[in-house]
Amino acid sequence: MTIPANGYPLTAAVSPRVQVAEHTGSTNADLVVAASAEEYPHLSVLLTTDQRSGRGRLDRRWETPPGSALAVSVLLRVGELPLDARGWIPLAAGWAMTEAIRAQLTDQDVALKWPNDVLVGGRKICGILAEATLDFAAVVVGSGINTAMAPEQLPVETATSFAVEGEVCDEDRLMADYLVRLDRALTALIAAGGDAVASGLHADVVGVCGTLGRAVRVSLPDGSVLEGTATGIDAEGRLQVTRAGAAEPAAVSAGDIVHLRF
Ligand code: ATP
Repeated sequence: MTIPANGYPLTAAVSPRVQVAEHTGSTNADLVVAASAEEYPHLSVLLTTDQRSGRGRLDRRWETPPGSALAVSVLLRVGELPLDARGWIPLAAGWAMTEAIRAQLTDQDVALKWPNDVLVGGRKICGILAEATLDFAAVVVGSGINTAMAPEQLPVETATSFAVEGEVCDEDRLMADYLVRLDRALTALIAAGGDAVASGLHADVVGVCGTLGRAVRVSLPDGSVLEGTATGIDAEGRLQVTRAGAAEPAAVSAGDIVHLRF
């Protein structure tokens, strides 16, 4: 692992510690372990363009051929954030990444799929995974962004990349844009005592969330399936899904969401 002097100047202007791995299994796993052993400052970043054992939720695989994608993990020291507001961290990251990708894919339909996938034209360009450090003192948020991935390298039909969208990703700018927004959102959330409505984060997330208004199917952790329309995001960050004919929405805090129609 090396610390580049000038490889990512915009990122280095935002982050106190930028480390680049030539290749690694998982930037999230590395940073979780490293930050538990050593004092890494808030907004420390570990990145690679060759992540070999990337993970999604529920230990699903995140597949990226070498050089085709950016894996970036950021350490967040959010001890002042009330525990019941921590669920907003992945949503804040999803919002920040959606905005950062929008800044470069200006002609495309870039939206957040609740809670934190970034889709371009309904296809996933970025997945995000938030994990606590081993001592629970900090949170590591990892993002996998498909950058130079060629059409024949896409691991699933539902994926896309900057290259597939006809653009070259400016990785340094992407990370800097993302980190600035993420830090700002969390700082405001802490200042508001964890109230995402008061801090403006709730409105920011709603504003970019392409899941809202769509017919969705949700596989719930208990194995049941909920079908309805995604009608809102509540003050806790849960997705509100209204079944046909139901007066009140059900609140979903964890589940696999399929957008039924695009
Ligand atoms: P879904 O994408 O179905 O909503 P999810 O949000 O739970 O699932 P993650 O757990 O974040 O997804 O990511 C893992 C899933 O993403 C894999 O099961 C696979 O379908 C898909 N995937 C794996 N690698 C990539 C990639 N490079 N780009 C886009 N999608 C990928």
